[in-house]
Amino acid sequence: MPIRETPALTYHGCGLTRDLPDSFTIGGMITVVGGGFAGVECVWALAEAGIDVTLYEMRPVRSTEAHQTDLLSELVCSNSFKSQDPDTPAGLLKTEMKALGSLVIPTGEKHSVPGGSALAVDRNLYAQEITARIENHLHITLIREEFTPEQAEAILNRGETLVIATGPLTSSPLGAWLATQTESEHLYFYDAVAPTVDASTIDYEIVFAQSRYDKGGGDDYLNCPFNKEEYEAFITALLAADRVPLKEFEDPKYFEGCKPIEEIASKGRDSLRFGNFKPVGLRDPRTDRRPWAVLQLRPENREKTLYSLVACQTRMKWGVQKEVLQMIPGLQNAEFVRLGVMHRNTYVESPRVVTSFLEFKNRPGLFIAGQITGVEGYVESAAMGIYVGQQLVRRARELPMVEPPRHCAYGSLISHLQDPTEREFAPMNINWGLLPDPPENPKKKDERRALKLAAARSAFSAWVDELLGAPVG
Ligand SMILES: Cc1cc2nc3c(=O)[nH]c(=O)nc-3n(C[C@H](O)[C@H](O)[C@H](O)COP(=O)(O)OP(=O)(O)OC[C@H]3O[C@@H](n4cnc5c(N)ncnc54)[C@H](O)[C@@H]3O)c2cc1C
Repeated sequence: MPIRETPALTYHGCGLTRDLPDSFTIGGMITVVGGGFAGVECVWALAEAGIDVTLYEMRPVRSTEAHQTDLLSELVCSNSFKSQDPDTPAGLLKTEMKALGSLVIPTGEKHSVPGGSALAVDRNLYAQEITARIENHLHITLIREEFTPEQAEAILNRGETLVIATGPLTSSPLGAWLATQTESEHLYFYDAVAPTVDASTIDYEIVFAQSRYDKGGGDDYLNCPFNKEEYEAFITALLAADRVPLKEFEDPKYFEGCKPIEEIASKGRDSLRFGNFKPVGLRDPRTDRRPWAVLQLRPENREKTLYSLVACQTRMKWGVQKEVLQMIPGLQNAEFVRLGVMHRNTYVESPRVVTSFLEFKNRPGLFIAGQITGVEGYVESAAMGIYVGQQLVRRARELPMVEPPRHCAYGSLISHLQDPTEREFAPMNINWGLLPDPPENPKKKDERRALKLAAARSAFSAWVDELLGAPVG
């Protein structure tokens, strides 16, 4: 293990300034692959702690299907980092990231453009500054080449640390190698995600709990019962809704196993009623009859604060998708924490494969960060980069890694990545449903959310002190 001496450093978090001693012990070599949102945050956390780190980025030698430039942390689509209101889950996460020493969020704030309550950024100025700060950092070596499976094996066989942060468009050879590390069925190359709702916004006067023929847990599923008129109106809206076209690089054959509901409905108005929405084995307690059709909801987490719409994959455009889905009985006021998407996306089934520190259970030294872990979005991906970086700083100092408490935004994301509930594991943004319900659980949404935020803040402040504040040297 190489030992290095480093000069005195100052750690600048959000409102936190920590002076580090003149020198401390540094562990084995660390390599991070992917100069996207997660990769830059991960190397920044390490480098700011005085730890040498190598970052591989394949652009511009080789590009992805979505990136346009050779800049690090490039925004491939929208220029929004979502809400910066600290009283929203997205704002809460940003506050936590800044306290952990984020590079992405303060740089985004510096180059913000008007975006209402959202943090919208000038994508070029933002990415140029990130690139310059990484390129010029004393402790970061940036290598512009495609990282290969052979390099990964060599690093791990030397007992060094490797962080894969290659994102949704991971290059094919590395993706194939990663699949061999996960027993392949635990790595996905495409997303066909059904929409998910916040459980507290479901109308329980209409929706009833029952498993088909009362099998299994009896009330594992919630059922949204359609009568004939409701079903017909839903099908009409579904068939009229605009759909997202497949991108050139998205091969339709991957989606054959999970046809979108609008495509099924286009084969005949009753096809959903005889297929994905069949009402057999179910009885609506309000009418004591079998409904005309039923859409089932399945819990997405242990606490049952989130439910996904079973077999409801869709390519409807997001605006109209919400309107159509709110025509489902019981979901008229539902808040969708995730809308349906079907797109190219490389991600690991984290609950089966990695520890709560995002290290492979069966390959010590191999970590993942970013969207590949099963979070979704620029900010959440960056958050996972800082997380791995800060945990590796602790490991380098021979301190135990520390798990985030369940109640804060970090704890909620890690809980999503660790929750063993049987489900179709899919990437998720931070949202109200991921933050656990308070024990009092008041009926009023605003009161419930205020308690969630208070619990998150107090839990986070204890954790951040432990994570960053332990004595070093
Ligand atoms: C088409 C598309 C549109 C999107 N739109 C949005 C949006 O509007 N808003 C939003 O929040 N999120 C959006 N996302 C998701 C967003 O891109 C990701 O959440 C975020 O970029 C993930 O960060 P990351 O660091 O995990 O991966 P990335 O930011 O993608 O970074 C990964 C990096 O790894 C590099 N790389 C890949 N393979 C190798 C290799 N073998 N060797 C070296 N380097 C490699 C890539 O070039 C890339 O720079 C979109 C994704 C796609 C694909």
